Amino acid sequence: MSRKALYLGVTLGLCCALFLGAEALGQQASGPTAAGGREPFRWPAGKRAALSLTFDDARLSQIDTGLALLDKYGIRATFYVSLDNLEKRLEGWKRAVASGHEIGNHSRTHPCTGNYEFSLKNALEDYTLPMMEKELDGASADIQRLLGVTPVTFAYPCGQKFVRRGREVKSYVPLVAERFIVGRGYLDEAANDPVFCDLAQATGRGFDDLNYEQVKKLVVQAREQGRWLILVGHEIGAPAFQTTHAAALEALCQYARDPANGLWVDTVAAIGKYIREQRSAKGK
Ligand SMILES: [Zn+2]
Repeated sequence: MSRKALYLGVTLGLCCALFLGAEALGQQASGPTAAGGREPFRWPAGKRAALSLTFDDARLSQIDTGLALLDKYGIRATFYVSLDNLEKRLEGWKRAVASGHEIGNHSRTHPCTGNYEFSLKNALEDYTLPMMEKELDGASADIQRLLGVTPVTFAYPCGQKFVRRGREVKSYVPLVAERFIVGRGYLDEAANDPVFCDLAQATGRGFDDLNYEQVKKLVVQAREQGRWLILVGHEIGAPAFQTTHAAALEALCQYARDPANGLWVDTVAAIGKYIREQRSAKGK
């Protein structure tokens, strides 16, 4: 290597080091705000995170056990109802509406993959998008007729978002986005980032089968990240299959309503609307 080439190489190397160093410093300066240096999302009234409690399928124990517990602590939950079960506790569901709980759409006949035995004769693999439109609109009409409220959020049965199979597969997320403020998934592994998340595919984390310490861990993690945690349960009662432990729910209600813990606990509709408004105010 000639002396000139050596000089050029050293100069270029030094320039690169300076540039990389400056970039690293820049990242460090913006680090504490949030990933990528963006502004942190502002929850209302100085809250640090949001929490929604959701329960699916209108399981009878939601009315028989859950409703009194939630009402005791003034916590408003979101119930994604199945219509056959709804009719079995209709008076109870009317009370739930009167207490301010949200009734959400969960389709009319709860189609999931045919790999679940209960759905083999009503499998998403055999559905088309027009059939799914009827599922969504039919359920909203039935809920309106039975309870006098129009659902504004939706929960994907089994958390699944497709119809047909293989090359014919279509997502039905756009149908949900056209009709609802929020579409909620199931058994996801992260809470919602309020700046980034697609409200038509909001994540839902499992609430069933967890003890209080396990569920509190999810809440604390969401608060550290300033996120919206949506918990998803089914039955409410003593530990059993697909059951949210009543003791864990009660302890969580106590924790969530303590202002020192910085949580905004509300329905999926209320929090979804707030996120949408904040984003449109910022032109995003
Ligand atoms: Zn369900």
